[in-house]
Amino acid sequence: MAQSLDPATREALLTRVRFYRDLGLTEFYRRPVDPALLTGDPEPARVPGLASETWESYEQDQNLRAPSFRQPLGERVGDHESQSASAPQAYPLEDQPIPPRKPFPAAPEISATVPAAGRAAALQLIRDEIGDCTRCPLHKGRNKLVFGDGSPAARLMFVGEGPGADEDAQGVPFVGKAGQLLNNMIAAMGLRRDEVYIANVVKCRPPGNRVPEQEEGATCTPFLFRQIDVIRPQVLVALGATAATWLLGSRQPLAGLRGRVHAFRGAQLLVTYHPAYLLRDPRQKKEAWADLQIAMRELGLKLPVKA
Ligand code: URA
Repeated sequence: MAQSLDPATREALLTRVRFYRDLGLTEFYRRPVDPALLTGDPEPARVPGLASETWESYEQDQNLRAPSFRQPLGERVGDHESQSASAPQAYPLEDQPIPPRKPFPAAPEISATVPAAGRAAALQLIRDEIGDCTRCPLHKGRNKLVFGDGSPAARLMFVGEGPGADEDAQGVPFVGKAGQLLNNMIAAMGLRRDEVYIANVVKCRPPGNRVPEQEEGATCTPFLFRQIDVIRPQVLVALGATAATWLLGSRQPLAGLRGRVHAFRGAQLLVTYHPAYLLRDPRQKKEAWADLQIAMRELGLKLPVKA
């Protein structure tokens, strides 16, 4: 019987596969398809612009196969990336060779941490304290303050630079083109956006998307640090030089910071390229993917494997 994925799942898969191809990953592996994702439609819907009618035939057309991940974060019920406990392991798992990291300092005292159940409320307290902020000049051009987005219990947190036009209009971080790419990066890690937390160095849009100034960063980052202390992510990813500078407390070239694990407030901090930079120079996506794989390894996520 011809089986097809529903159009939304298929579109998500195509987006994912294009992202992997952008990263230079063209070898994929087949594994059993979750029957729950199959519509069983006798007349499967066509993806515009593609001759293939099923994921399987798309794989054959494109000579691509679905990647495989180890158990990802949290509950993945119904997620097409997860394998059921009884599903056979189609291919042996094999970690990508990633250099060992240096040891990092112990996490803060347990007694100093906010229990998972109280984190949303603790974040709301921080948001309330920020209020209709006028602490720095950025408030003058602001439409919406962009506090942060995602799970208060996230094990993985991303920190960007500051809101752009789309974020300023919606009050949510990374919802523009760079946000689309960040979403793809998160999905490539085998995660959903609502499983991670995303925030910025500054919460109000700098005019013309310029880099936040010293006074602006110094005024705003104490709130970011408090968000980090509430969420206590296991892994923090600094997106770009501005985030790396404010989190690490020193200005250094990105090249010297990438590819290794830093310690920050009990989290393992990784530095990678900002998605907006990757949009301008897609050749660097491969490097960013290598950084994200270090984050995945630290989180115990399943790494994609080669045959
Ligand atoms: N760039 C950022 O650094 N942050 C956003 O939220 C959006 C774009």
